[in-house]
Parts: sequence; structure tokens; C-alpha cells
Amino acid sequence: MAPKEIDGSRGEGGGQILRTSLALSLATGTPVRVRNIRAGREKPGLLRQHLTAVRAAAEVSGADLEGAAMGSMEITFKPKAVRPGEYRFAVGTAGSAGLVLQTILLPLCLAKEPSTLVLEGGTHNPAAPPFDFLARTWLPLLGRIGFPAEARIERHGFYPAGGGRFTVRTRPAGDLRPLDLLERGEVRARRGRILQSGLPERIAERERDLLLKGTGWPAGSVSIEGVESPGPGNAVLIEAECDALTEVFSRFGEFGVRAEAIADHVMKEYRHWLAGGVPVGRHLADQLLLPMALARGGSFRTLPLSSHSTTNIASLREFGFRVESEKAERNVVVTVAGG
Ligand code: AMP
Repeated sequence: MAPKEIDGSRGEGGGQILRTSLALSLATGTPVRVRNIRAGREKPGLLRQHLTAVRAAAEVSGADLEGAAMGSMEITFKPKAVRPGEYRFAVGTAGSAGLVLQTILLPLCLAKEPSTLVLEGGTHNPAAPPFDFLARTWLPLLGRIGFPAEARIERHGFYPAGGGRFTVRTRPAGDLRPLDLLERGEVRARRGRILQSGLPERIAERERDLLLKGTGWPAGSVSIEGVESPGPGNAVLIEAECDALTEVFSRFGEFGVRAEAIADHVMKEYRHWLAGGVPVGRHLADQLLLPMALARGGSFRTLPLSSHSTTNIASLREFGFRVESEKAERNVVVTVAGG
């Protein structure tokens, strides 16, 4: 079969087109050639995180692979059947281990035996889903669709040192069910969490104080948690548990950015979601599309779509999946149907 041609510069033009294409290639057995990889980014081509994802996808499927090198802007990927088993994938930098997981997890769940995955690299880094979002938001929703997987973190990995590690165990997918997330229901509980390693306690305290002042929540509802990590790091999280799901909002400490600005950013994102009245936040939206497509059905109400979401919708359509989005007054309803 001639490989399906994918233009990686389309829409958002980042790593997600590559990861979604690899996941769909694995799940459907369709060979792909992805050109112009990450052409829309400042440093285009494969970085360590993307290269690790490409190699992981090849390893779990015994794929024939061309072009897998640092900086490469084109790969050809021809998978064979996905083989469940025990795997370890290390990004080798602070590149996101969670994004590597998202490339291979669903195809592995579709296999007939369980898998154990050890992922090493960044667990809490900018522009990627942090471990807590994966464990509390994404995986539980996958479980409801019929992809059972559990994750446990052993070590946190922050930018720039990386070196985090977590383990994910999958069980074979049962019957896949459409998941509908149209109403948020009650927000039953919410809390703030500051994760910190190797930095002055004062930073975390300032973030906690800003969250408490800004939200008016009682003192005990924002915790400071010291975590183990090879390098220094700081993460501010807000977790909101509602009838429909648990959403996690996050931002990470950066050199030269005031602690208050980090906490304020997370608080604004939480408030924006709250005011929107939707269950599904901006980041979750683009990460629900693939599992819903593989389950051949599902729908959700979310905030106006990000370019990550519209680009991911285009990727799914290229593989023949039907995805529609309908604008309501202040939100959008996305409906995914089978291919
Ligand atoms: P890309 O920029 O193409 O590599 O894609 C980044 C991915 O990370 C997208 O799926 C985003 O939705 C996701 N992402 C970025 N920041 C966050 C965050 N704070 N929480 C959850 N997911 C995130």
C-alpha cells in the first residue's frame, strides 16, 4: 500500500499532526509519509520528544521507518501489527514523556494483551500535558470510553533538567463506547496544588497566597507539595472535579517570570473555563478527539476551538473520520462519528 501523504505544515504546523498521524497509522495499519514536519515551529523538524515518539511507534509495531533523525522534516512509517508488551522509552531531555505516551497508548490498548510502559523525560513541562492532567483528566475519560490504563509517577521531570519517570499499565480495550460530555454539572470540589523541587519555599508560598486571595477559597484548599526531581522546578495546578469529569489547569515556573504571574495565569484559565459553562477545557478538547474517533462516536461541549483542535480535526478527517463542530453562543459542540 502506498503511504498516505500527510502535510505536517498544515494548520497549527506542530508536533501534534505527527503524533496523531502515527497513532492513526498504528490503529488502522495505514502506512504514512509525513512531510514538512513541524514546519510552523521556530526549530522545525524532529526534536528529541518527537523522535522518541516516532521510534516508540516503530518499536511497538515493528514498523519499517525512514527519516527518523534529529531535525528530520520527513518520515515514512509502515507499521505491522501492534505488539503489546513491556517497553521503556526515554526522551533523554526535558521533552514531554506524556506526548510520547499519547502517540502509542491507544493503539496498544487496542491489542489483545496488556502492556507496561515506562516513560522517562519531562513530566511537567511547558506546552504539554503534565502528568497530573494525564492521570486525573485524560486517562479516566479514556477508561470510560473503554481504553483502561493506569499511571503512576515515580519521579518528576521539570524543564530544563527533565529526568522524570512514570509507568503506565494498559489492559486490552473492551467494547468501545461513545462518550458524551455536553453538560458540566456541579463543580463538586476544587483545589490548588503547588508542586516544587529544589527552589526556595517562598516561591510556592507566594503562588499559594495569590491563589487563595484570588479565589477566596479556604486556607487548606491550596497545598504545597515537595516532590523529587533531578532538577529544580515548580508547577501550579488547579483541579476542578465536576459531575462530568475532573479538569486540571496548569502552568510551570520559568526563569524570569514572577511566581504571581504563573499562579495568575492558571487562575485565569480556570475562571475562563468556569465562566464558559463547559465541561471540556481548551487542552482537553484536542486530546479527546482521537479516542472518540477510535471509539467511532462521542461528543463534547468546549470553549472556542484552539488551532490544535482544528488541526487535529483535519488530521482525523484525512483518515476518513467524521468530525463536526457547531458553534453555540459562547461555546462549541464537537461531534465525532465513525469513519
Ligand atoms: P504540540 O504543540 O503540537 O506539540 O502539542 C502540544 C499538546 O499538549 C496539545 O495536545 C495541547 O493540548 C497539550 N497541552 C499543552 N499545554 C497543556 C496543559 N497545560 N495541559 C494539558 N495539555 C496541554
